Amino acid sequence: MLHTISDRSLISRFGISPWSSSSNRKSDAVYHYLEEQIIVGALKPGEAIAEQQVADACDCAQGTVREAMLKLQQSGLVVRHDYKGTRVAGISRAEAVEIVKIRMQLEEQAGRMIASNISGETRDRLFEILDAMCQAADANEVFLCSAYDRLFHATLFSQANLRGLEPILERCALHMHRVTLSHRDIPLCGTDIHEKHITIIETHCNGTPEEAANAARGHVSFLFDRWMSEHTFLSLSV
Ligand SMILES: [Zn+2]
Repeated sequence: MLHTISDRSLISRFGISPWSSSSNRKSDAVYHYLEEQIIVGALKPGEAIAEQQVADACDCAQGTVREAMLKLQQSGLVVRHDYKGTRVAGISRAEAVEIVKIRMQLEEQAGRMIASNISGETRDRLFEILDAMCQAADANEVFLCSAYDRLFHATLFSQANLRGLEPILERCALHMHRVTLSHRDIPLCGTDIHEKHITIIETHCNGTPEEAANAARGHVSFLFDRWMSEHTFLSLSV
């Protein structure tokens, strides 16, 4: 059941691993397995996660699952209760909208700071990640596509040297994907994804600070309209 993460051939098919850490810890594999279930909406808000069941599914010790659960709790994807056990966390529309605002502010500011100041090495890396992201999209590997997208934005943001804010951007992107991907009704399209991210690369590598900031803003601002739909949030609140 751990196919999406333990099957290295799947990742190597897309050229690179979407996870910056080269750690091969079993608890990381379990973490990504559960992260995927939550992001794609297979595990719903409020749903209980039984440690033993996960341990059986992942063929690992319960202690390993506990370690992964702790990390999921730190990411805000699960909530641990004394009596009710571990459950998938909910997310309200108000929270989701604040998450978009924070992310926009972070990436706009980073865009202003780094515009036309990106090294050739980073530019190549962004193209490499984008290529993997588009391939994953066309192969309908939704979770991998999400992981590559988060790596793309984290790689760009790291150029601004705002270290203390990096985990905040990471958290915002994770929860935005959770909202968008758990309610996806049309398949991902590599061409569409390519077009959206090429604009980001071009403006950040060759544009003015305002052009880079506007591109960063435009990349996420459309979600405000989309998230006005009641339906999405009725099913994500607990
Ligand atoms: Zn993106």
